[in-house]
Formats: sequence, C-alpha cells, structure tokens
Amino acid sequence: MNSKVKRIINILYSITGTYNPFIIAELLNIDVHYKNLGGHPLGHCSKILKETVIVLDSSLVDSPIRFFICAHELCHAIKHSDIASYYSLNELSKGKLEYEADIFAFELIKLLFSIELTEESITDEMANDYGINFIN
Ligand SMILES: [Zn+2]
Repeated sequence: MNSKVKRIINILYSITGTYNPFIIAELLNIDVHYKNLGGHPLGHCSKILKETVIVLDSSLVDSPIRFFICAHELCHAIKHSDIASYYSLNELSKGKLEYEADIFAFELIKLLFSIELTEESITDEMANDYGINFIN
C-alpha cells in the first residue's frame, strides 16, 4: 500500500475506529447527502461557508459502490481541503488529485469489506470496475 495513504488511513482509523467512509465523515463533521446528480458525476465534495459537504448521486443509495464514491470524496475533503481552488487547477494537477483519491478509496474500501462488512455483497464486476482485489 502507498505509504502516505496507509498513514492517513491508520490515523483515521485510530480517531474513528472504523474504515467506513460514511461513519468517518460523520465523525469528522462532514455532511453526506444524496441528490439527483443525473449519474454524472456520481459524487462531489464542496465547501459551503466552511462546512464541507459530500454529495452522492441518489442512484447510489442502495448500491455498495456508494462506499467507494464516498471514500473518494472523503479523500478530497480531508486532503484537498482547498477545494475552491480545485476548479482552477490544470488537467495534470486534477489528474493527480483524482488518482490520489482513487488510491485512498481502493485501500479504505478493501479494508472495510475485508474486515468490517464481510456480509455486504460485492460483485466481481464491481471489484473489477474499481480495481479492488479481495483475494489479498
Ligand atoms: Zn474526485
């Protein structure tokens, strides 16, 4: 695991006692809402009057993919806190932040499903889509 990402996940776990991005967000006072985003994007993160808010597409309510999307947005909320300036970044810098958020989400969700939510069903297709390998 990427050591920087590992460190952040360990810190979050020591503070919150969970790998569940929804619970972590709640404990960090980050509101998570569902809204109809029309399926694209599936989630976004914004800062409104110093309050960080994660919005997930309403199509995710019953989908296990919501954990991954929430974790990805959580990474933006925690690490890329100056989100307002995100939109002025060039594509290369954006790509780097997106990559970082994906790596964070892969690792967090891998731990979540392998340790905490073993009864949640996750399809092979989903695992492939998100690059999550549950065998390890
Ligand atoms: Zn992102």
